[in-house]
Amino acid sequence: MVAKISHWIDGKTWGGVAARTGEVWNPATGEVSGHVDFASQTEVDEAVAAAARALPAWRDKSLAARSKVLFAFRELLAANRDELAAIVTAEHGKVLDDAAGEVGRAIENVEFACGVPALLKGGFSENASTRVDVYSMRQPLGVVGVISPFNFPAMVPLWFVPNAIACGNTVVLKPSEKDPSAANFIAELWQRAGLPDGVLNVLHGDKVAVDGLLTHPTVRGISFVGSTPIARYVYETGTSHGKRVQALGGAKNHMVVLPDADLDLAADAAVSAGFGSAGERCMAVSVVVAVDPVGDELIERIKTRMAALHVGDGTRSGCEMGPLVTAAHRDKVASYLDTGVSEGASLVVDGRGHEIDGASSGFWLGPTLFDQVRPDMSVYRDEIFGPVLSVVRTDSYESAVTVINDNPYGNGTAIFTNDGGAARRFQNEIEVGMVGVNVPIPVPVGYYSFGGWKDSLFGDTHAYGPDGLHFFTRTKVVTSRWLDPSHGGVNLGFPRND
Ligand code: NAD
Repeated sequence: MVAKISHWIDGKTWGGVAARTGEVWNPATGEVSGHVDFASQTEVDEAVAAAARALPAWRDKSLAARSKVLFAFRELLAANRDELAAIVTAEHGKVLDDAAGEVGRAIENVEFACGVPALLKGGFSENASTRVDVYSMRQPLGVVGVISPFNFPAMVPLWFVPNAIACGNTVVLKPSEKDPSAANFIAELWQRAGLPDGVLNVLHGDKVAVDGLLTHPTVRGISFVGSTPIARYVYETGTSHGKRVQALGGAKNHMVVLPDADLDLAADAAVSAGFGSAGERCMAVSVVVAVDPVGDELIERIKTRMAALHVGDGTRSGCEMGPLVTAAHRDKVASYLDTGVSEGASLVVDGRGHEIDGASSGFWLGPTLFDQVRPDMSVYRDEIFGPVLSVVRTDSYESAVTVINDNPYGNGTAIFTNDGGAARRFQNEIEVGMVGVNVPIPVPVGYYSFGGWKDSLFGDTHAYGPDGLHFFTRTKVVTSRWLDPSHGGVNLGFPRND
């Protein structure tokens, strides 16, 4: 059955007629599973208007009432974790376990936002001047837009929506058109949790929907996650229209393996972080930097593990890696295999030969390993966003750090070593936002914040955690004096605190 996926505006499926729709695929079968409505400016206006109507009452709801909804949503999300994971797998292709893990990380963000009454406390200074008290408050921005990528259709929207709502904002969420159904299911769960209609709206579509949000005068903030060129465009367009914008972009994540590392641990990590979710993670390891002399031995151990990977339909038990999200993306990723060879890299494992446990019409590509990759090659420079792992060999710790710091991206990185001093030096010297020490995918827990450096993030604040609260609020400082005992007379001087 081919589903119709519509906008969710003001607490219900938006009944308008969509002039444009997009196809949604099941990547494991290669079949069209749905048609998703693409917003025109009319639907953008409709969704923003619904959010604006809901704003005054939601902003004024007590912190207790808001956190009650968040607690209820957290319970519903946990209770429906498997159903949401199945929706993610059906449209994204990642294996069910991985999809359930994604929902688990989303739950962490909701749990953080449940603490909003404590988190939004301001400061208070009694008697800052004689009989003058000063205090700070954090107030919502208003209507905010959240624009998310295809690779985490449940988790990335829930990096932002819980904090935005907890802080008293109302939201228009524009999920990826490639796997849009998770967002609608999440919106329904929020409604069941008691969120008033209009506080969260889901607008589907493409550039028209995004541009509509970026330029809409009512929208005060934009949280975006996607590829670097679009993130840069979103940041520049949104800020030039007066909005607060955080735009998280693409990545090329390096994992350094020092000679003293536990090579089994490092090989396990490289394979897990390189090929989990078919490499379609912004924190996937795409480059292993092998510091002499570990290269040959490490590659042997990685190869053994790659050969044993069970690639197939993510709904089948035992599958560890699923298909790529679309045929076009699979073809683009596969084209790098020939490019890498023509540029002089050595193709150690060709993913096109991997056995697949699934329908032949699915968007498959097995895990691929390149050796002897150099930073000038496009397999190194480009974010391939697929199951392609490159090994760059270096002769020292210092040159490994130079390779990483010269890369324009700065999302995540990891070092594998048993030398605490080297690890400590690495975390200090490396120009990357998230660092793992013997941890390959160092995604911060929900009470820290997530974000890269350099071309991996445009804006000043990272996603979720304390930075999320900062992004979704404006601070106000009140200086108050209650007349006791009497009026102090006219004073034309600049206020003095004495
Ligand atoms: P994408 O940039 O193609 O799309 C992201 C969003 O932007 C989608 O909602 C899409 O509809 C919209 N969009 C696409 N083209 C647009 C255009 N020309 N104008 C306006 N809007 C447009 O990204 P994707 O392929 O969906 O996701 C993969 C990318 O996201 C990778 O680069 C990955 O590294 C990145 N990502 C980054 C993070 C992070 O935290 N830094 C997290 C997840 C994914």
